[in-house]
Amino acid sequence: MPHAIRIHRTGGPEVLQWDSVEVPQPNAGEARVRHHAVGLNYIDTYHRSGLYPVPLPSGLGQEAAGVVEAVGAGVTEVKVGDRVAYATSPLGAYTEVRNVAASILVPLPDAISFEQGAAVMMQGLTAQYLLRRTYRVQPGDAILIHAAAGGVGTIVCQWAKALGATVIGTVSSEHKADIACAHGCDHAIIYTRENFAERVREITGGAGVPVVYDSIGKDTFMDSLACLRPLGLMVSFGNASGAVPPVDIGVLARMGSLYLTRPTLFTYAAKREDLLAMAAELFDVVAAGKVKIEIGQCYPLRDAAQAHIDLEARRTIGSTVLLP
Ligand code: NDP
Repeated sequence: MPHAIRIHRTGGPEVLQWDSVEVPQPNAGEARVRHHAVGLNYIDTYHRSGLYPVPLPSGLGQEAAGVVEAVGAGVTEVKVGDRVAYATSPLGAYTEVRNVAASILVPLPDAISFEQGAAVMMQGLTAQYLLRRTYRVQPGDAILIHAAAGGVGTIVCQWAKALGATVIGTVSSEHKADIACAHGCDHAIIYTRENFAERVREITGGAGVPVVYDSIGKDTFMDSLACLRPLGLMVSFGNASGAVPPVDIGVLARMGSLYLTRPTLFTYAAKREDLLAMAAELFDVVAAGKVKIEIGQCYPLRDAAQAHIDLEARRTIGSTVLLP
């Protein structure tokens, strides 16, 4: 019988269990995918901890790459034998094999390995919508991205640089500053010893940046607003340090008629035509060598708890893949 990592209660990494699971024949509209690689994402820790509540017991994970083994009635998007990847599934990607809606599957180009596919879908599609849709980065823009040596961060740095931006990133250590700079970050601010808002003002000659991509949440929210130029856009897209407390919107007026958005990949990729267009653009920049996928570490799927420990302890670099 196949195995999957599941949770029966919320809590620390110790709640992850290696359970045997039954995988029935796919229903109409579904495909059964044999996973070759599973993506680890920060959002998985929010589901595990209870920050984002889910009905229990539950599977975990929303991203994987593998091969279609069977399809249900009416499936036209994929066929048996196709190499595919996905990033916006219901929870349950931490498994050896599963059924998912065929409409969320994206064909994986031959040039992209299963490990790369599992590493890049969630974080790369997020980078795509952040840089190309939420705020469309233009040559000459200066942008600020937090956690610049992380999974999303290393992709955003490279892609923004390829778009002609000046990339300012924050990181917690010297080592991570080197990683960020090796991935296109022009100015890596070590925020554990420098005030990043002051440094952003210095770097931009006092002007501030037109956009901040903030995935840290509680610890950085207010200082991120202070980095923006008038009419700038605050993109709060994650909570690695905890959820942002309620905000007095008057602060947006006082700090320069700022805009604020809290986007999710699930909204941006909800329509299949958007998902395919986003994936095509992502695979293009990867194939062109503009964005290199940094798989910093791999773990056996059954050791997902260790992967969560390392991710939350900020020990990971770039993307992390779990191997069934
Ligand atoms: P990362 O690889 O970026 O890991 C998180 C990083 O956040 C850490 O390495 C650390 O970098 C930094 N960090 C800052 N404060 C803390 C803290 N208190 N605890 C732990 N880490 C902290 O993860 P991902 O690339 O998987 O995800 C990045 C962010 O993007 C997450 O917040 C995630 O939820 C969000 N996201 C949002 C999506 C959306 O559509 N809204 C989709 C995908 C991801 P450092 O040591 O340099 O500070």
